[in-house]
Amino acid sequence: MYHSYRAAELTDSHFSGVGADLAAINALAQMPLQLEDVYIRSMYLCSDQPCETDWSQFTPPALEQISRLVVGQSVIGGHDRRSLPLARFFKAAVVQKPGPGGEPSHWVQAWFYWLRKTSGATDLLLNIDGGIYREVSIAWRYRHWRCSICGKEDGVCGHRPGEQVEDSRCICLIDEVVDVLEGSLVYKGADEGAVVAGARSIAADMDDEAILCIWQDGNPLFDLLYRAELLSDVREATPEELAALQGSATHVWVDDLEQAVSCGCEPRHLLSLGGVLVTCHADSVASRMIGLPNFLVTSEETEVPALTIQRLE
Ligand SMILES: [Zn+2]
Repeated sequence: MYHSYRAAELTDSHFSGVGADLAAINALAQMPLQLEDVYIRSMYLCSDQPCETDWSQFTPPALEQISRLVVGQSVIGGHDRRSLPLARFFKAAVVQKPGPGGEPSHWVQAWFYWLRKTSGATDLLLNIDGGIYREVSIAWRYRHWRCSICGKEDGVCGHRPGEQVEDSRCICLIDEVVDVLEGSLVYKGADEGAVVAGARSIAADMDDEAILCIWQDGNPLFDLLYRAELLSDVREATPEELAALQGSATHVWVDDLEQAVSCGCEPRHLLSLGGVLVTCHADSVASRMIGLPNFLVTSEETEVPALTIQRLE
């Protein structure tokens, strides 16, 4: 039996099938939880690309095994198993995502949750969304490894992982993962080039901000920004998905706040501490928003009158 680690990176994606998410979370919880009770994020745990730290490589069956075995396991800090978990994995899937050089590759994306009302819950959220906690590492056990040069198991051939043999490099191929121990937030991962990505993602170089937009079709400015991948469109999000985002968005644009509210969405509830909501100015909106505790409302009489609502720290 072998025991190893592999590092990758946190993703900020947390849109997924929300009804199924809640059922999966409640399968692990001791008391019934609602989406408003939890924060949900996900991480790309590992891929089928060779890892140059130890010259190992998961095969497709291994990724499938990991995606099953990680459910119910703990998210901890720095592989320190003496401390209590920070969060828990409740769902995982093998997904396609380009590797470091843009090559097609497969990843295990694993979703985890933690409780909003616990002490430290906001710290964890802010550190993940702010890009402080961004790298992760998986700890797992496997039974055998297979030499990529000759196919023999466990090094009996004498080839060593990383060794150059004529035109090929010996890779330790892992077909069978028998256990996933935990996923850790780590200060520095080893899986070079893993990128932050996901449904909530904006352009990669804006990876520490979430800009959510709720707007109507036909707004030329925001269609332009959306095509430039500067905005994340959540028009298709269900109310449950928006509820899952509660308190985590750093920027929210709402084309028509009145309409959003009438559809059952209260966009200012999406804002993180310090987050900003911008909406087209309308007197009716301003009168609703001014005077809200913990919110700073300013109007700008620019070419397009706008209202800025900031959730105070
Ligand atoms: Zn060999």
